[in-house]
Amino acid sequence: MRPHRAFVEKIAPRIGLTGREARHLAQVLRARKGDILTVFDGQGLEGRAQVVALEPGCIWLQVEETWPASRETPQPITLYLALLKGDHLAEVVRAATELGVEQVVPILCQHCVVRELSQAKLERLQRIAREAAKQCQRSRVPTVQPLLFLKEVPRVEQGFVAHPQASLLVHQRFDPQRPTALLTGPEGGLSPAEVALLEERGFTPVTLGPRILRAETAPVALLSLVTAAFGL
Ligand code: SAH
Repeated sequence: MRPHRAFVEKIAPRIGLTGREARHLAQVLRARKGDILTVFDGQGLEGRAQVVALEPGCIWLQVEETWPASRETPQPITLYLALLKGDHLAEVVRAATELGVEQVVPILCQHCVVRELSQAKLERLQRIAREAAKQCQRSRVPTVQPLLFLKEVPRVEQGFVAHPQASLLVHQRFDPQRPTALLTGPEGGLSPAEVALLEERGFTPVTLGPRILRAETAPVALLSLVTAAFGL
């Protein structure tokens, strides 16, 4: 069986694991002295660590070996994601992490039904990204940024906005040598003025096919097309 992967703030020769991670290891996985784990810091470093001592609330690890780890896309992908109803933002953050996104930026658009993202919700999304990164064995944890107004989206080097009225396909324009920004709209769609503004900022409108996808399906479909264009 593959060793358990534990997220640590910093990889050092000796690490004292506390909090959730330590509780999970002690109570769910019943870690014992001598067990081997893989530690990762979310910044591109991994290591092999041995459990050397268990104290109440703290598990001591000795790191035996480290290596740079990359399971990242060849160029970074930023996903600008319209605020969504219910728990759909969380679902998208989880799937986007699995698909290799580097950062998710929640966006407030004209037709968003949900109009705010509390600090608690943002922190929960960041926790979901971290958990998903761990589960899919990514070495980097994507960041989930605070909410931006759509008009604050910066100019991008290469960008695609999913737009049902577009006819261009992502792979017709995609350049795998450049960082990519993606944007998908809310349940009510993007307004023509918003699409026009995004075009000025460097986004090309693209179609995801003849069927209208749900607002939580569209970002996953768009990300899959981009990773496929990278050669996965
Ligand atoms: N009633 C809305 C549909 C919104 S679907 C409208 O007509 O625009 C939510 C978001 O998913 C859209 O803003 C778009 O970004 C994306 N999307 C859904 N289906 C799509 C498709 N077939 N092609 C491109 N983008 C799509």
